[in-house]
Amino acid sequence: MKLIVAKSAGFCFGVKRAMDMALEAAKRFPKDLYTLGPLIHNPQAVEYLGQLGIEVKDKVENIPKGTVIFRSHGVSLQDLKKARENKLRIIDATCPIVKRAHFFAKFLHRNGYSLLIVGEADHPEVEAIRSYLDKDAEVVENARELKRLGPWEKLGIIAQTTQSFSLFKEIVANSLERAKEVRLFNTICRTTMVRQEEAVEIAKKVDCMMVIGGYNSGNTQRLAAICKEIQPHSYHIEMAREIHPRWLANRERVGITAGASTPSWIIKEVEEEIRRLKKA
Ligand code: SF4
Repeated sequence: MKLIVAKSAGFCFGVKRAMDMALEAAKRFPKDLYTLGPLIHNPQAVEYLGQLGIEVKDKVENIPKGTVIFRSHGVSLQDLKKARENKLRIIDATCPIVKRAHFFAKFLHRNGYSLLIVGEADHPEVEAIRSYLDKDAEVVENARELKRLGPWEKLGIIAQTTQSFSLFKEIVANSLERAKEVRLFNTICRTTMVRQEEAVEIAKKVDCMMVIGGYNSGNTQRLAAICKEIQPHSYHIEMAREIHPRWLANRERVGITAGASTPSWIIKEVEEEIRRLKKA
């Protein structure tokens, strides 16, 4: 059996940075240490942080004192204000690439463009970007949704950092029919694009594909959907123990990729489990 593991599988720069900041905080401020929402979209990693005393709170109001860590995809202006009002120590692990998307959103607004965000309206990253704007932005998840919007004189477009590049291109192409002037910034994170491109290449070469990552991880879900389109025997799993031996029967080339929040130890376990099952 040949096993191909994506080089880009696992923690991206922003998630690794957030994890490192959390681990450092656990050493320096071990009491009353919280993350606003799960630090990353991986239940096993969040459980590990819990063992170090880092508690997850879903609202700033529920953190009376101590230290709060902001996640890599950022927080809303309202949450930032509340944390300051409550005099919490703030550890801001917002990824610099997400901050870049904030910058371009504000830039487009300031220059008179109506803003369109390609992404999920209820994703914390998109909610946070909108919260810092003076005028609200429109959010679309697919080209169909664009038809109910506009037309615009001046349209500015950005994307949620983990969106699919092909969807971004499709929406940009469609927007040209609905706006006199379009200005866009490709705010999709390079690591997301590389991860998706590599997954496509591997899925083409194998006869079974494992996509590892939290079921609540949007970028892993997209990765799984991309792989499934190319290789129908693609499976989204969180842990090695979920692999069904039947999935590997008569499969001689197996590919592995993983979302941006998947720890390397889980990827290693999946790799070992596949080798074990193929030997059994
Ligand atoms: S996927 Fe990209 S933008 Fe998002 S946290 Fe990772 S490095 Fe930052």
